[in-house]
Amino acid sequence: MSSNSWAPARPPKGAPPVRINLYSDTQTRPTPAMKEAMMRAEMGDEQHGDDPTVWELCDRMAALTGKEAAMFLPSGTMCNVIAILTHCQKGDEVVAHETSHILHSEGGTHAALTGVQIMGLKGARGMFSPDDLRAAIRPKTRYTPPQRLLEIEQTANIGGGAIWSLQTLNELTDIAHEQGWATHMDGARLMNACVSAGIPASDMVAGFDSVWLDFTKGLGAPLGAVLCGSNEFIGQAWRWKQRLGGSMRQGGVCAAACIYALEHNIDRLADDHANAKALARGLAQIEGVVVEDPDTNLVFFDIKATGKSVPQLQETLLKQGIMVSGLGGRVRACLHLDVTAAMIPETVSAIRDALAA
Ligand SMILES: *Cc1c(COP(=O)(O)O)cnc(C)c1O
Repeated sequence: MSSNSWAPARPPKGAPPVRINLYSDTQTRPTPAMKEAMMRAEMGDEQHGDDPTVWELCDRMAALTGKEAAMFLPSGTMCNVIAILTHCQKGDEVVAHETSHILHSEGGTHAALTGVQIMGLKGARGMFSPDDLRAAIRPKTRYTPPQRLLEIEQTANIGGGAIWSLQTLNELTDIAHEQGWATHMDGARLMNACVSAGIPASDMVAGFDSVWLDFTKGLGAPLGAVLCGSNEFIGQAWRWKQRLGGSMRQGGVCAAACIYALEHNIDRLADDHANAKALARGLAQIEGVVVEDPDTNLVFFDIKATGKSVPQLQETLLKQGIMVSGLGGRVRACLHLDVTAAMIPETVSAIRDALAA
């Protein structure tokens, strides 16, 4: 393997198995019951328009989000890319938070492929206010980039899984629409916000022209995200899905896992939120650890005052089969359906010992 490869490294041979995987909510494995549902799935040819299971998933997602239409895609990143390609022209400007996934975690796609520029707004916990948005509106002159899209992450990932309130969302989307912009929600963890806030998804996303949900983030599916919007938006988005190679064939086998997740793995997100709170309470007792009370399933904590680095902590924990991630200089622990309440006390004491050693 040449040293300039961007491919992910394989785990070293003989590495101890990971028992408590808090690295990401993408680290779940499909359960036997989900695999059963996949085995029973009726299938056709998705890009030919005749896979009944993909249609069923899309119908359910359109109903859940209160939109006219939906489209099944392999990943959340492809949802963001296709939504931006559909809403914007090259040279347009997208307004988003400065910590957003489209700015930091999509490999520079928007410079490389969509040709938009992204204005990153500041604000605590991955969020900004209606006043911040008003202050970002540019005069419409031939000198300024045409502002075209407001993009919001619900929940805000780097913001610690924080939830934008429904009132703020509605004010923000009203401002954007007054300016003639479109509105797009990166809803990778939308259902975490809906379950925690007790607000139906269709209300939460009412002000958004497009929204997507990731089925690999805490919902347990092996693949898939669904992008929703108007008939016209989804009709236009299909051209980009086809161009990018995101059109599938026997997609029903994967769509069945997503339908299973909608039926069985949404309400239980509340367990992940309770486990996140328990973990944060435990971590708050450790000297030198600074942790925020989590809104949802992501727990970010700062260990600078302990004198240990994030990679040092990760390495010590990994030897005990516990995996956490480092993001933006902090440690991130993600709660999901393969992490049980019984694993929390062990995790807290392992972190306490690792930081004291
Ligand atoms: C994970 C994530 C994405 C990308 O989703 P993939 O399915 O990994 O491509 C986009 N936005 C946010 C906020 C995410 O957390």
